[in-house]
Amino acid sequence: MRMSRYFLPVLKETPSEAQIVSHRYMLRAGMIKQAAAGIYSWLPLGFKVLKRIEAIVHEEQQRAGHIPMLMPTLQSADLWRESGRYDDYGQEMLRITDRHGRDMLYGPTNEELITDIFRSHVSSYKDLPLTLYHIQWKFRDEIRPRFGVMRGREFLMKDGYNFDLTKEDALHAYNRHLVSYLRSYERMGLQAIPMRADGGPIGGDYTHEFLVLAETGESEVFYDSDITDLRFGERAIDYDSVEQCQAVLEEFTSRYARTDETHDAALFEQVPEDRRRVARGIEVGQIFYFGTKYSDAMGAMVVDQSGARVPVHMGSHGIGVSRLLGAIIEASHDERGIIWPEGVTPFHCGIVNLKQGDAEADAACEALYAALDALGLEPLYDDRDERAGGKFATMDLIGLPWRITVGPRGLKNGVVELTSRRSGESEELPPEAAVERIA
Ligand code: ATP
Ligand code: MG
Ligand code: MG
Ligand code: MG
Repeated sequence: MRMSRYFLPVLKETPSEAQIVSHRYMLRAGMIKQAAAGIYSWLPLGFKVLKRIEAIVHEEQQRAGHIPMLMPTLQSADLWRESGRYDDYGQEMLRITDRHGRDMLYGPTNEELITDIFRSHVSSYKDLPLTLYHIQWKFRDEIRPRFGVMRGREFLMKDGYNFDLTKEDALHAYNRHLVSYLRSYERMGLQAIPMRADGGPIGGDYTHEFLVLAETGESEVFYDSDITDLRFGERAIDYDSVEQCQAVLEEFTSRYARTDETHDAALFEQVPEDRRRVARGIEVGQIFYFGTKYSDAMGAMVVDQSGARVPVHMGSHGIGVSRLLGAIIEASHDERGIIWPEGVTPFHCGIVNLKQGDAEADAACEALYAALDALGLEPLYDDRDERAGGKFATMDLIGLPWRITVGPRGLKNGVVELTSRRSGESEELPPEAAVERIA
């Protein structure tokens, strides 16, 4: 992409309404624009990162054997009356009446809709196990939308639902989700710690929230510092192996790590004092096993091996796709702007032309652009006729991992400058070598 043809409405001033750094940088970098309280337009740069996060979630879910689909944002109230949640959900639910006077709602989550799909099409244990998921916009009329996309009213969520014959099978699905979530967050450059949590309105005893430690997080968390040494990493996993998935669950959940909702002071005391941490975290996902709560209420039954009709065991599993942009920025920035992890960066590399219009500099930039493009890497070329200082400030703000600076002086010696956004270190090297380093 060439900057002169792109739409990147960078703000010079820090918007006064933004209280936390991720919100400030998302506005300043022209990633989002508020449309109404807690509702945002995703401008091109923000949209690009959102899509990259979404792609990681899709890949990791499908790797785990979960099947993508798409359910609508608007739902009929009838299904929610069946589950009993139409009244329970309260004011967070946006209720809408259509022209025929029918009660509708903008889905805050999808347990009812998916259970209805399941019961309409599945009737035998032979069709199990089954895990379906989608990535779709949700609406929750949050009492205090704030911090930009972190607590929006409209937000993008991946929500997945497992259907299993037995509790044991459903717990395997739970563990599979835990593993796939660990992998997903690590690919986004994040450490998200599974913590024991509370079921809330979705219900259930087995539930973990995934938290990214950050001072601006809305949850208070208590944990054993040893847990922050754990990485899933590149290890191989067989998602069909009950033992392997169970082992990962045990490894990642055996140390003390809880949110304030389930915190147990007496248990916490048993953690050696120098390892006890009280901090704040951002909830970027949650997994639940809730047994037959919805299948009982809505009649989602299958015939088992003995011919008996039994309710299916279910769980639901969510990732806050749009919230993740905020969480990643909170975890990875400096005073000049965002520092995107490689896995989610909107462009792989910025090219800054110090002397736009200089035939040699222009040609060198074009050649770099073509070389990166040929390798499947996406460069963002600042080809505007602007001061170098302004170009650098924009590149620092939008946080691409690499910047190649091209100017007539360097070109005389056959070199360009390659700068790492994260370390700030620069190196002079021939253009081909710079491309090689990035690839
Ligand atoms: P919170 O405690 O922050 O209100 P939640 O527990 O109500 O979140 P879940 O029902 O567990 O949310 O939804 C799954 C994921 O969706 C959450 O882990 C979070 O990452 C994301 N999410 C929930 N509410 C919002 C919101 N208002 N804005 C952005 N993301 C959200
Ligand atoms: Mg909530
Ligand atoms: Mg929560
Ligand atoms: Mg939650």
